[in-house]
Amino acid sequence: MRRDPKPIPLLDLTLQFRSLESELRAALDEVLSTQHFIMGPVVAEFEDDLAAYCRVSHAFGVSSGTDALLAALMALEVGPGDEVITTPYTFFATAGSIARLGAVPVFVDIRPDTFNLDPALASRAITKRTKGLLPVHLFGQMADMEPLLDIAQEHGFWVVEDAAQAIGAELEGRRAGSLGRVGCFSFFPSKNLGCFGDGGAVTTTDGDLAERLDILRNHGARPKYHHQIVGGNFRLDAVQAAVLRVKLPHLDSWTEARRANAARYRRLFVEAGLAMSSDRSNTSPSPADAPVVLPYERPGRRHIYNQFVIRARKRDALITYLRENNIGCEVYYPLPLHLQPCFAYLGYREGDFPVAEAAAQETLAIPIYPELTEKQQERVVEVIAGFYRG
Ligand SMILES: *Cc1c(COP(=O)(O)O)cnc(C)c1O
Repeated sequence: MRRDPKPIPLLDLTLQFRSLESELRAALDEVLSTQHFIMGPVVAEFEDDLAAYCRVSHAFGVSSGTDALLAALMALEVGPGDEVITTPYTFFATAGSIARLGAVPVFVDIRPDTFNLDPALASRAITKRTKGLLPVHLFGQMADMEPLLDIAQEHGFWVVEDAAQAIGAELEGRRAGSLGRVGCFSFFPSKNLGCFGDGGAVTTTDGDLAERLDILRNHGARPKYHHQIVGGNFRLDAVQAAVLRVKLPHLDSWTEARRANAARYRRLFVEAGLAMSSDRSNTSPSPADAPVVLPYERPGRRHIYNQFVIRARKRDALITYLRENNIGCEVYYPLPLHLQPCFAYLGYREGDFPVAEAAAQETLAIPIYPELTEKQQERVVEVIAGFYRG
């Protein structure tokens, strides 16, 4: 009897943990022995390492990627009635953080090739109430920062980068989080740099803003019990900082492994006749000759592949088939934000953002984690080929 091959999960964190287990345990032990859990030297050291990595002058650890976004918008004094232009095709927190401050998320559609905010549409959405732009570097590839920064400069407002999925991503050699007024990062376990729970960071090159971010994450207090502004408890734990300090030096080798896996998938998909080698015009899975569209990597960018997202013909049936064959996959994201029940009050309708809506119907993330083997990738592609053979 044939034994089922071992399942291939979308992400397997145990392999990375085992490769660093003794170092991680030692770092945790050190925090435990000091019993210093809130802020302190480990957090400060990690912030220095992170600032150097992101090539910015200031980085501050915060409690999550969501709180990074919230703190950034609070530091920029976003409030009721203000409008912030963003993408409907992202994780909820991007727009949720705008709405939580009483401001209005103004959605504009995405580019069909990269799934990132379309800058031409962004400039058309500007009103007197626009305070800034909040692009997302989706799946690990940087958004079109040059035109977005130009628009912002022309109108005198800011750009905040949601870089939660894009630590180490580059645009013409410049790193994610170093181009906008603030960069927001997440260390949620499934991000490329993940901690042992929730964590995040904000980056900036603006000294005054850095000061505000630094005190905002600690109830706006400076000195202690003297509150300059109304902030929150947005601190990063020393335990998480200790984990992140151990992991950060390995991030680039993990990213290179993800990129190598992406290159291998490209070869395998094309060889199997499932996809054409990717080019910009190739943004729909409908042509009969190629059921899969590969992720498009724009020139001049370092894509860090937090997710390897394909467009697939008969996507939902393919998901069922992959699950039957024990291959992990996930839809990021099945319902664009303009159609979420909580944003009904914004008045958007189905059909408002056709590119985002099509992406929600057609896209699928398949395993890309650094430790994924060539054999496993071959099996993923074989199973997908088997599905389309019928
Ligand atoms: C993960 C993520 C966030 C939120 O990060 P958390 O650490 O989970 O709060 C925000 N934006 C995007 C695009 C994300 O992928």
